[in-house]
Amino acid sequence: EAEIPEDHPRHDSLVTRHRIEAGVEKGITSRQGLIAQGRGEAFDYLLGERTLPSADAAARAAAAHLLLADHPVVSVNGNAAALVPGELVALADAVGADLEVNLFNRTEERMRAIVDHLLDHGASEVKGLAADARLPNLTHERAKVDADGIADADVVLVPLEDGDRAAALADLGKAEIVIDLNPMSRSVQVADVPIVDNILRAIPNITAHAHELAHAERAELERIVGAFDAAATLDDAERAIRDGDLS
Ligand code: ATP
Ligand code: MG
Repeated sequence: EAEIPEDHPRHDSLVTRHRIEAGVEKGITSRQGLIAQGRGEAFDYLLGERTLPSADAAARAAAAHLLLADHPVVSVNGNAAALVPGELVALADAVGADLEVNLFNRTEERMRAIVDHLLDHGASEVKGLAADARLPNLTHERAKVDADGIADADVVLVPLEDGDRAAALADLGKAEIVIDLNPMSRSVQVADVPIVDNILRAIPNITAHAHELAHAERAELERIVGAFDAAATLDDAERAIRDGDLS
């Protein structure tokens, strides 16, 4: 990655491509993950590869949710693990969340590879291998979660989750934070807090907000959560794409 200059106009997209390719080579990311990456890249291009002020406000609301939670869990898939492993560990540390590996195309090999990858990046514990609970209304493999992880969580952060699973989590009454560059994807539409931003920028941004809010009163965190408007956030991202000036 050293050869990509910081001021390259497509910097984030080039870094992202390299990391996803390396993830596939290491057995962390599925080949389907390459396709998901391509979709994301198209939306990031249309957004001008920047964090919208509305996405920054969403990241702040996400941090407040995670800090208020009794049991926050950060769900990790193959793309997230390839793109931001150390940043996911730092976020989990900052808000006291569990990390749980959760795959759309679950194989034991890939589960193991991602758990090991997160441990290599400083995680002290990674959940997901127990798979001793099920989410309702999903087929067998996709329903698997840990009983003492996502099944028990009150707030879940799911970067790049597929639409069905995002809906299943929302149906369980958990507060759900979704990161996805497509403001029209079903995943962000069912989220309590949709963050329309590249995971590369969004995860460190949530962590920065969490550090800033670490000593805030509960009432202040509750005010931030209560003032957040999910529909307006999605509208703003869609408007930015339609009216965008990419010159
Ligand atoms: P739906 O949510 O409508 O059901 P889907 O989840 O089935 O769609 P996928 O192609 O599986 O569609 O999802 C990939 C999603 O991940 C896309 O919406 C894409 O924008 C998003 N995505 C890919 N890479 C990133 C990234 N680096 N940061 C944020 N979002 C990303
Ligand atoms: Mg989706």
